[in-house]
Amino acid sequence: SKLRESQIKKTKTVCTFCGVGCSFEMWTKGRKILKVQPSPESPANGISTCIKGKFGWDFVNSKERLTTPLIRENGKFRKATWEEALSKVASRLTEIKEKYGGDSLMFIASSKGTNEESYLVQKMARQIFHTNNVDNSSRFCQAPATTGLWRTVGYGGDSGSMRDIYESKLILIVGSNTAESHPVIATRVKRAHKMNGQKLIVADLRKHEMANRADIFLHPAPGTDLVWISAITKYIIDNKWHDTKFIEEKVNNFEAYYRSLDRFTMEFAEKTTGIKKDLLIKVAETIHQSPTMCILWAMGVTQQDYGSDTSTAISNLLLVTGNYGKPGCGSYPLRGHNNVQGASDFGAMNAYFPGYQRVDNDSARKKFEIAWNTQLPSKPGFDNNTCLEAVKNGNIKGMYVIGEELVETGSDSNFIRKRLEELDFLVVEDLFLSETASYADVVLPAAASLEKEGTFDNTERRIQRLYKVFEPVEGSRPDWEIVQDIARLAGADWNYKHPSEIMLEAASLAPIFQHVSYDRLEGFKSLQWPMNEDGTDTPILYLKDFHFPDGKAFLYPLEWRPMVTVEAEFDLHLNNGRILEHFHEGNETYKSPGISEKVPSSFLEVSPELARERGIETGDYVRVTSKYGSVKKRVLVTDRVSGKELYMPMNAIGDEGVNILTGRTMDPDSHTPSYKDLYVKIEKLKDK
Ligand code: SF4
Repeated sequence: SKLRESQIKKTKTVCTFCGVGCSFEMWTKGRKILKVQPSPESPANGISTCIKGKFGWDFVNSKERLTTPLIRENGKFRKATWEEALSKVASRLTEIKEKYGGDSLMFIASSKGTNEESYLVQKMARQIFHTNNVDNSSRFCQAPATTGLWRTVGYGGDSGSMRDIYESKLILIVGSNTAESHPVIATRVKRAHKMNGQKLIVADLRKHEMANRADIFLHPAPGTDLVWISAITKYIIDNKWHDTKFIEEKVNNFEAYYRSLDRFTMEFAEKTTGIKKDLLIKVAETIHQSPTMCILWAMGVTQQDYGSDTSTAISNLLLVTGNYGKPGCGSYPLRGHNNVQGASDFGAMNAYFPGYQRVDNDSARKKFEIAWNTQLPSKPGFDNNTCLEAVKNGNIKGMYVIGEELVETGSDSNFIRKRLEELDFLVVEDLFLSETASYADVVLPAAASLEKEGTFDNTERRIQRLYKVFEPVEGSRPDWEIVQDIARLAGADWNYKHPSEIMLEAASLAPIFQHVSYDRLEGFKSLQWPMNEDGTDTPILYLKDFHFPDGKAFLYPLEWRPMVTVEAEFDLHLNNGRILEHFHEGNETYKSPGISEKVPSSFLEVSPELARERGIETGDYVRVTSKYGSVKKRVLVTDRVSGKELYMPMNAIGDEGVNILTGRTMDPDSHTPSYKDLYVKIEKLKDK
């Protein structure tokens, strides 16, 4: 058995699913994964993982992996060599740039790729094709939270660490199904709630596990979170429970902000949100009595018409109560993908270079121009969402998509399909022939996270290394190598031999990454940006100053804009979100037989009262129709949802996805689609 053990390879990696950023050792023999072993040294998760991190890896060895580049010819794919495919991509992108200008190209980086890969994609877009049309899928999830934090405190990231969530005396969760979306964070909260006397308040449309555990559960009318949060904030100030010392020393604009709260009385909040005034007062009192508070929020907040404003209201409440800049406090917009934080941090954004330096800031741009020896565009580009309208208007002709299943994850799948058809040229890098890839002119097989080196940034701004567990599946290649080859064929003088060299370049150009190197990230070591001049990192933000020129935070006044009028025909609200077993559209987890056996298809949750009214039972099929499309779904009657509110997993799981139903409205400040502002009708079908 000693001999057998010596054949087992143990390699440290970081989970490729959610933004918690669990790290562990993979025990492998050849390409066979024997065991996933978390370590007490794992900074984010200790010895915990969830079902996906433990059992979700079969996709890496799936027979459906792409193993050869594909080129579309006469409407069909044919196999191609890497040489032919790469030169076709480079020459077509160059042709489009020469004919229509660089701004006719769009580059979409993967929020599942490494930091180094995001860095190279944005560098290729800017240095070689002279466009800021580059983005990542944070546009579809947490961009509104980032906007809210930029307005109020300065950095677009969790203000503290997992440890603060565990140690806090009060956790307020808004619009996050934490137990299923970020299971290991939920475990921390569950333990602290049970063992440490931590209080838990949950606000959601759906009575999920955390809602059932909560000391107080709030069920606001869809899209009204801004109102109850602002009303509680006003009530706290009216009663002089706000932290006057903290505000005087550290916060600007208090008076104007307080005046802006005039309309947010408890009566107005009760009328608008449907939550009883007494319950809201109890929440205000609980916040007042708690020495520390963390607020966790996710897509239930950000994917609304005014997700940026609601995120701002959350941060305002934390400022008014002095819950920033000390342990056990702060804002926690829980990041979805494993590296959605890092893709933004490393510059795959339409208005920002790596390290959140604006493209329209002359001195920042000059720095990158000198480093990259070129002139760079100063106008922010299209984002993941607005680029689709730009395709329709003829402004975007070519698109380069890395690992993004746009058809399933973008809002209004039918609209997106049409736009992909209209492109002159589409290249997709992916592990599988995704639906988006099926529209491509060239498909390039990419390596999985276990097959390459690099770093990921988790939701607490923690940079962690992943090591190569085994070689890429034959015929596939790491994204950073593919991007480098295309950039070189298009004229770049790049010569990166290892991702560590890319990290060193990013660290030299972005102050928040100064002193970051692969040596300092060896094994289970990690660093939380922003890095300081003395080489230390920052587990808790704003201990001294907020990230504004005068070091003070800003209370940002907000207006309440009336809800979009609902057309009478579409009488039911449809919410959507994650489920524990599958990740997002399910392209990866669906390929794990154990997981897909457990949850083989998507479903529609219907409340017992609505089911009675419509004569529907669990197992029945219904047609769900919105203004934009229609899907057939199997019904699950459950009291997790109530009244005229429905729920459907966001994962298509080999089935028709929810985004066939979602529309083209978006948060005006971040352009994040309002996936959650969705009204539908249902009709019972005869077939079972
Ligand atoms: Fe951890 Fe998230 Fe991976 Fe689960 S999916 S193991 S919580 S990183």
